[in-house]
Amino acid sequence: MTKPLISLSITEALHGLKEKHFSAVELMDAHLAQMDACDHLNAFITKTPDDARKHAAESDARIAKGDMRPLEGIPFAMKDLFCTKGVRTTAASHILENFVPAYESTVSQKLLDAGTITVGKANLDEFAMGGANITSYFGPVENPWKSSKYPEKRLVAGGSSGGSAAAVAAGMAMGATGTDTGGSTRQPGSFCGIVGVKPTYGRCSRWGIIAFASSLDQAGVFARNVEDSALLLKTISGFDPKDSTSAQKDVPDFTALLKQDIKGLRIGIPKEYRVDGMPQDVVSVWEKGAKLLQEAGAVIVDISLPHTQYAVPTYYIIAPSEASSNLARYDGVRYGLHVDGKDLQETYEATRAAGFGAEVKRRIMIGTYCLSAGYYDAYYTKAQKVRRLIANDFAAAFDHCDVILTPTAPSSAFAIGENDDDPIKMYLGDVFTIPASLAGLPGISVPAGLDDQGLPLGLQIIGKSWDEETMFKTAFALEQAIDFKTSPSLIKNRFE
Ligand code: GLN
Repeated sequence: MTKPLISLSITEALHGLKEKHFSAVELMDAHLAQMDACDHLNAFITKTPDDARKHAAESDARIAKGDMRPLEGIPFAMKDLFCTKGVRTTAASHILENFVPAYESTVSQKLLDAGTITVGKANLDEFAMGGANITSYFGPVENPWKSSKYPEKRLVAGGSSGGSAAAVAAGMAMGATGTDTGGSTRQPGSFCGIVGVKPTYGRCSRWGIIAFASSLDQAGVFARNVEDSALLLKTISGFDPKDSTSAQKDVPDFTALLKQDIKGLRIGIPKEYRVDGMPQDVVSVWEKGAKLLQEAGAVIVDISLPHTQYAVPTYYIIAPSEASSNLARYDGVRYGLHVDGKDLQETYEATRAAGFGAEVKRRIMIGTYCLSAGYYDAYYTKAQKVRRLIANDFAAAFDHCDVILTPTAPSSAFAIGENDDDPIKMYLGDVFTIPASLAGLPGISVPAGLDDQGLPLGLQIIGKSWDEETMFKTAFALEQAIDFKTSPSLIKNRFE
């Protein structure tokens, strides 16, 4: 086998392990070496190389016995929002800097049971609040891609799951978990040139995931191709009695329909997603994606999602409101950082003042305001009503189409520091991902092309509720037609 181990897909790696072309220890060592070589990207908050090597040896023993599990020996990055038993879990916050959970989240447990090996806890925006992975207490994540026009600039990896996306894009892990509240798997996937998926709300258990906005949070995955992402999503899905919002639905084999043809499939193109000021490259990639799907047999349908313009403001009432309530638990008494004050009130204040970063504080204040007695109906209740209208838009559109095709983000990766002082601009970066989140729909970002700086741009496919299969099938057809083969220049010589 001539391909470097870090550039294999998960499917290829599983085949190579089974056929004993290489061992799980060799596969792991290649990824750990890449992790060292890419240390400057700051993709991990906590690295666990010693455990990873030990588990890789155990995987080899299983393989030798013919006892291979579905994802045996696959090097994996775990977003540091998933509680991992005995391994520090920080949510990228000072307030949880030394928090070591006594339990394992359902999703990470499912991945461990399937045989993945965690190489470390991936960096993220603090409590997953952000779109560029620049609000982490542990510093920003750098995108492995470089702009051809401004090669000196360090670019963001997207957020909030920027560490997970950078780790997969740079060959430090073959797959990773993300969480997606308003776009955090799809948008970093787009910025890093990999696949990012968010399932239908309720498809995966939220148990053991540190909560941000509970009615929106969903676990998701990253991989370097659609098939791998379908395999990973299948692994983490399913009902969990420990999470009352996880659904009692059978989990289909998401990989089963992938290779079916898409003849007659109706692809909706929402006119409201043609926002002002969108770069021409983004428009071109979108048009090209639609054309390629059409050539593959799909039918393009113009649709309308009339309440799209209200999605971002609605999200920025609902998400901070739920966050302000969820984050009330960090009081310096039960767990996490504790800063002494002269009385209990002052202890709360000092702990939370020292423990939370600026973006988290901003959202707690917005959320507390929106939930306060005088404003609850004007803001929170109103936002919930608009959320319903947005969900109804999708339901009506799906009478005319089977999936929806949009750009994932209105731009490619920007420089670290570029939008830091403008939260509104940052919030608008999620204009294409947030509507599906509010409606609870599944979405996937597929790498679809490069812009004039040689940076990746993703296309998003939004599916109907519980119809991830059609979403994956469309994504696979798009991936085949686009044949996106470029990797970040930083690691090109190691990667191809
Ligand atoms: N960027 C969005 C936010 O800041 C979404 C983040 C997410 O999905 N976790 O809230």
